Amino acid sequence: MSDSSAEFSRNLRAAGVVGAGGAGFPSYVKAQGRAEYAIVNAAECEPLLKKDQKILEYFPEKVFYGLEMLMKSVGAKQGIIGIKKKHERVIPRLEEIAKTRKNISVLKMGDYYPAGDEQCLVFEATGRVVPPGGIPLDVGCVVSNVETLYNAAFPGRPVTEKFITVNGAVKKPATFRVPVGITWREAAEICGGFTIKDPAYIDGGPMMGRVMTDFEAPVTKASAGIIVLAKNHPLIVKKAQSRAVFSRIGRSTCDQCSFCTEFCPRYLLGHNVQPHRVMRTLLFSGGPEHKLHSQYGLLCCECSLCSLYSCPEGLNPREACVAAKSDLRDVKIGFKNSSLNTGRKAEPHPVRDFRKVPVSKLVKRLGLEDYNKDAPWSEAVCKPSRVKILMSQHIGAPCIPSVKEGQKVEKGAVVGDVPADKLGCPVHASIPGTVGRVNEKYVEIIA
Ligand code: SF4
Ligand code: SF4
Repeated sequence: MSDSSAEFSRNLRAAGVVGAGGAGFPSYVKAQGRAEYAIVNAAECEPLLKKDQKILEYFPEKVFYGLEMLMKSVGAKQGIIGIKKKHERVIPRLEEIAKTRKNISVLKMGDYYPAGDEQCLVFEATGRVVPPGGIPLDVGCVVSNVETLYNAAFPGRPVTEKFITVNGAVKKPATFRVPVGITWREAAEICGGFTIKDPAYIDGGPMMGRVMTDFEAPVTKASAGIIVLAKNHPLIVKKAQSRAVFSRIGRSTCDQCSFCTEFCPRYLLGHNVQPHRVMRTLLFSGGPEHKLHSQYGLLCCECSLCSLYSCPEGLNPREACVAAKSDLRDVKIGFKNSSLNTGRKAEPHPVRDFRKVPVSKLVKRLGLEDYNKDAPWSEAVCKPSRVKILMSQHIGAPCIPSVKEGQKVEKGAVVGDVPADKLGCPVHASIPGTVGRVNEKYVEIIA
C-alpha cells in the first residue's frame, strides 16, 4: 500500500466512514484494496428513496472528489458513476464535471430493480461477473455508495450527520441532513408528522428494508431513510410475516412454477441461486420447526424480488432463503464449503436483459403508487435535545464506549471505538453536550 493510500485509509477509519447506503461496511477496508475500476453506486433503485440523487444534485463536486481519492488509493484507472437515465436533473451536471476529468465516465442505466445490486452494477459497468461467493474486488472493481464518497471528501472529518429521505405517509416527504442518533419520530416531525393513525415504517427501501414500529429508534450512519405506512398496509403485513406463517403458507401453496428463480437477478447473472428449490425443501419438511438445509439460497442477496414481485402466489421465497442460510450457518455450512462451490465460471443468462423488472411495475405491485412522489431537498435544521449513538452501526465488531456518564463532549468527539485488530471503526458525538446513559448498546448525549 502506498503512503497516500495508507493515509486515506487511516483517515476513513478515524472519521468512522462506513457504507452509507444501508450496508455499513467500513470504508477503510475497501480503500486498502487494488482495483482497475472504482464504481459509484448511484442507481438508488429502492422505490421512494431519494437521498443519493439529492446529494448528486446539490454536492456533485464533493462526490467526484471522494471518488478521485478512492481511485488514487486503490490504483483505479477508471471511475464510473452508475446512475439511472431517468435522473435528468442530475445527469447533465455530472457529465459536465466528468468532461473535465479524463478518466471518469457516467453510465446511464434503465429504470429497473435491482440496478443497484453491487454485482449487477459491476456487470453493467464492466461486463465482468463477480464469481459465485466472491466480491467485486475479485474482478478488479471497488463499488462505493454516493454518500460514502461524499463523506470521504472531507479527510478525517468525523461522520456526525446523515442524509436521509422520509417518505410515505407523512405530510411533507423530504430529503435532508440530521445529526446521527436522532429518533425516527423526530425525523418524521421534520416532515410535518404522520398522515395516518397507526403508522409503522420500513427502515431502508421498501424492498430490502426492515419493518419497524419503534419510532424512538435512532438514525445510524448506515440509514438511507424510512417509508412510513399504515401497520395494515399489505407491504408491511407481508414483510413482517413470521417463519411459522411463511412456512405454513408456502408448504401448502407453492406449485413449483419457478418464476421466483427465473426472475432472480443473481440467477440471471449465472450464480446458482434457485429459490424454488429452497421452497421445495419447505414442501418436504415437516413444518416450520424443521431446519431448512437447501444450499440453493446461499448466494441469495436478499433483494426480495422473488417475494414481492415474481411469485404469482404471493409467497415468501426470500424469507425461505434467509432461513435456509441461517440454518446452514448453524451447521457451519456457507457457500465456500457447500457442494455448489464447483469452481465453475458464472455465465449470465442469455435472456437476462429481457427479465429486468421495471420499477414502475414494481411500485404498483408494492401498493405504493400513492406515495411515489418526490421527496424534495430541505435545509431544515434539526437541533435535538438528545441523541443516542449506537455502538453497532457497521458490519464488524461493535464499538466499546470510551466515555463516562456526566462527561462533557464536543461534536465530533470519539464516544466508542473498536479494538485495532478487529473490523470496524469509531463512532462520534453528533452534538456537543453531556454524556447521559452509557451501556454496551449505546451512548446517550444530552445537549
Ligand atoms: S414463484 Fe412462488 S409458487 Fe412459483 S415456485 Fe416460486 S415460491 Fe413457488
Ligand atoms: S431475494 Fe429472491 S430474487 Fe433476490 S437474490 Fe434472493 S432468491 Fe434471488
